[in-house]
Amino acid sequence: MPVLSGGTPPRVRDLTLLPKAHLHLHFTGSMRPSTLLDLAEKHGVHLPDALTGAEPPKLRATDERGWFRFQRLYDAARSCLRTPEDIQRLVREAAEEDVRDGSGWLEIQVDPTSYAPLLGGLIPALEIILDAVDSASRETGLGMRVLVAANRMKHPLDARTLARLAVRYADRGIVGFGLSNDERRGMARDFDRAFAIAREGGLLAAPHGGELAGPASVRDCLDDLDASRIGHGVRAAENPRLLKRLADRQITCEVCPSSNVALGVYEKPEDVPLRTLFEAGVPMALGADDPLLFGSRLAAQYELAREHHGFTDAELAELARQSVRGSAAPVDVRERLLGGIDAWLAG
Ligand SMILES: [Zn+2]
Repeated sequence: MPVLSGGTPPRVRDLTLLPKAHLHLHFTGSMRPSTLLDLAEKHGVHLPDALTGAEPPKLRATDERGWFRFQRLYDAARSCLRTPEDIQRLVREAAEEDVRDGSGWLEIQVDPTSYAPLLGGLIPALEIILDAVDSASRETGLGMRVLVAANRMKHPLDARTLARLAVRYADRGIVGFGLSNDERRGMARDFDRAFAIAREGGLLAAPHGGELAGPASVRDCLDDLDASRIGHGVRAAENPRLLKRLADRQITCEVCPSSNVALGVYEKPEDVPLRTLFEAGVPMALGADDPLLFGSRLAAQYELAREHHGFTDAELAELARQSVRGSAAPVDVRERLLGGIDAWLAG
């Protein structure tokens, strides 16, 4: 911390105490690195070297090969989650980490299809996950819900099946429906039926867009999937008209700056267009995406905004408010978090 000439350090508010909502966190990607090592040993899984080092892996996903490598590491980590106990541990620790970072509401994103083979099928896998979320939420006091995410590398019919399942389990803690994986593959509109099922079932539509692909991919999410939130969406910054549209409709972008830099979407933290979105009035919810692979969690995203983009505490508080407003949290949780944000800023 720099010391002023008078010898008094400037007062800096602690960002881990700023109440916030975390809307972009993937299931396996939320795992603690130490837990991954434990589980790999427990199940006799040989992990790639990139996952066993002290540093997060070096990634560059701006081309298909780089993205494939990222997915392969993700798959290797996921293959260590084999029992209901593993799932419970993952979710409890994700909740603990979020609480430590000042999160008061977490929406965790999962494609249960990926866990189905080892957990007895799609429905058992989903039930194990939802039970784990419910227990972790009760144990830690953190409000938690689930986004079921379809994989755009798979057939759109699989996405429809998942959407129906997500709607059926809505009262067990599912609040939204997403679409993840390589935005350069397939068209958003191939998944329009799945999203219609989800929206008609009362789920919020939160597909990934505007990360690996440009503004057109965000537009597709709005036009074809009627998205009410965008996973990432940062590359909307390249198009002023799109920014205005997002701002006018108050579509929250789940912006994950550390992820963007780790995957090479932007070269340096200062290149992530946080200011552009903020000044355009586009609501953002900063998120960690896959801390296991990118090496930083929720509060670090706010630190990055402060350190590399000069966000003042008042602006950081506004970012936190935007995350809460963009969430599916019930009114009492929102009010508590918004009150906490005001108190943080006043304190
Ligand atoms: Zn993501």
